Amino acid sequence: MSEAPPISLWDITADESDLDSPMEGDVETGVAIVGGGFTGLSTALHAAERGLDCHVLEAQRIGHGGSGRNVGLLNPGVWLPPWDVRARLGEEKGAALTEALGNGPAYVMSLIERHQIRCELTRSGTIHAAHSERGFRDLERRAGEWRRLGAPVELLSRAEASEKIGSDAYCGGLLDRRAGTINPMGYVRGLARAALSAGARISTGVTARALRRDGDRWIVDTDRGRVSARAVVLGTNAYTDDLWPGLNKTFTIIHYFQVATAPLGERAHAVLPERQGLWDTAPIMFSVRRDAFDRLIVGSMGRVFGGETGLSRRWAERRLRRVFHGLGPVGFERAWYGRIALTPDHLPRIHRLADGLYTPIGYNGRGIAPGTVFGRAMAELLAGGKEEDLPLPVTEPAKDGLAPVKSRFYGLAFAASQAAKAV
Ligand SMILES: Cc1cc2nc3c(=O)[nH]c(=O)nc-3n(C[C@H](O)[C@H](O)[C@H](O)COP(=O)(O)OP(=O)(O)OC[C@H]3O[C@@H](n4cnc5c(N)ncnc54)[C@H](O)[C@@H]3O)c2cc1C
Repeated sequence: MSEAPPISLWDITADESDLDSPMEGDVETGVAIVGGGFTGLSTALHAAERGLDCHVLEAQRIGHGGSGRNVGLLNPGVWLPPWDVRARLGEEKGAALTEALGNGPAYVMSLIERHQIRCELTRSGTIHAAHSERGFRDLERRAGEWRRLGAPVELLSRAEASEKIGSDAYCGGLLDRRAGTINPMGYVRGLARAALSAGARISTGVTARALRRDGDRWIVDTDRGRVSARAVVLGTNAYTDDLWPGLNKTFTIIHYFQVATAPLGERAHAVLPERQGLWDTAPIMFSVRRDAFDRLIVGSMGRVFGGETGLSRRWAERRLRRVFHGLGPVGFERAWYGRIALTPDHLPRIHRLADGLYTPIGYNGRGIAPGTVFGRAMAELLAGGKEEDLPLPVTEPAKDGLAPVKSRFYGLAFAASQAAKAV
């Protein structure tokens, strides 16, 4: 087991074991997969199940990226509402993506069941909570649209939301019964275990440094040896480095942080009594959920600032006190943050970078189900499927020249907001 410091609460509490498996010498494989998160491991699991020889290369540990750090809201769809997806992709492609990802949580739940993944799955839905009347009108429209598509969503009045959330701080909410919550590190480690037992190979602590063509093969040069493969999938999302020049200039990086209380026992039961996870409609989003041990985990956009009594913990204390009046004083156990890849139109992408080299990327903060579904789609494609059957039209990467400026601007705005809300 690696001795690296924990990257999140989930890194410590996940019931599934970590994997420490160095690469020994050069490797020859069918599909080289860079990145040991939901995307890379779902690609590996589904490719191995289809009889493809595949090898995952992870620079750090399984779940080191967003997959081991997120909120664990297993939500359907993408960040945008379905009508915006149709407006951007066209009727047919937009409807297909909405359907594929609308069924995403059910598919993830089926994998968790099939592979007995121990990841604290709850199936009671998630709540998108209205922070304002305007936010509520947006939820009304989303509710109408999802119902038209046959999805089991419920619009909650102020009183209903107050009961479900255990707080009167919200104007209403949208309860999506398709959704759930997970311990994301448990899920990603479980995917790794399932992929291994399906026949995939996984190496951790291996950084892919360069990609080059050699005849009809790809060569991945790593810091531990050479990998020769027929095809390559990059599952590096917001943690993309310079491996494929320019790829990390196609999106804006923002950060999202979370602070977890110590287990609160019975006291936590008044908060989200049915254990839904919650995020709100505020432009600087707030999230709160309970874990299986009755910790409350609150989060928002930005990084962690300060230590034990630092800014982020003061922010968490104030937010909890404001939203859940009766909770009383709480102690905090851990704070962490991770990177999110925002695309200019808030839609994910599947890029073909070259012949036999693909990357699903740009999840805009919603990647648990999409990463899993896109990984499966990658495996289907590489096992002889057609690009037209992918859940998204295949695109070429386009540099977003303003990304670094936007990233800095958001970083400053989120820090200022955190500081203002901590007092
Ligand atoms: C704080 C936070 C909260 C979020 N909350 C939610 C949520 O509640 N629900 C939801 O659906 N989504 C959420 N997301 C988004 C979701 O976590 C991501 O979209 C998802 O984890 C992306 O998975 P991935 O496998 O594509 O990439 P990642 O999990 O980021 O994995 C990329 C991996 O690639 C590795 N890597 C990079 N370069 C190399 C290289 N050269 N060689 C080898 N390895 C390399 C990295 O080490 C990393 O492990 C959240 C994200 C964050 C950060």
